[in-house]
Amino acid sequence: MADENMAEIVGTPALDGTYISEMDMWPFECQEFNRIYPFYENLRAGKFTTTKCQKCGHIAYPPGVICPKCWSDELEWVELPQKARIVTFTETQAGAPIGFPSPIIMAWLNFGEGAPLKHLLARIVNCKEGELNEGDEVKFVVFDVPSHPIEIKKETKICDRVYYAFEPVK
Ligand SMILES: [Zn+2]
Repeated sequence: MADENMAEIVGTPALDGTYISEMDMWPFECQEFNRIYPFYENLRAGKFTTTKCQKCGHIAYPPGVICPKCWSDELEWVELPQKARIVTFTETQAGAPIGFPSPIIMAWLNFGEGAPLKHLLARIVNCKEGELNEGDEVKFVVFDVPSHPIEIKKETKICDRVYYAFEPVK
């Protein structure tokens, strides 16, 4: 029998009729499942954040619950820049996973000198095939992800989800 404090996924909900939960690529974002849930709460507030170690000052991305440099768990949330430039990118024009429109554009971003995070591999959205160029400026954007029903202590809770990407500055 499952521990009553453990939450379990119920059923196989179809998400917009496009993909099933076993193929779900998005994390559970609620506090019951995810120790970095403030990251997602900050996304909802339009903020791009990560964790900074209060002992050694290391800023890690993605955010975590311990510092990868000194193993301290005394971390604080800090904001990251919301604009970057494209260093290089790839466009997947065919064979995108179910539920994802083509093209899927992944870019290596540069946040510039002095930024708390220098580089990031990120998805670029709201951009047509062939439109993007190296050196283009992009900005942070938050979008909704299909929610997911989960059972927590015999109650079904809808976990609303968001995620982020970058889009061209026009
Ligand atoms: Zn540290």
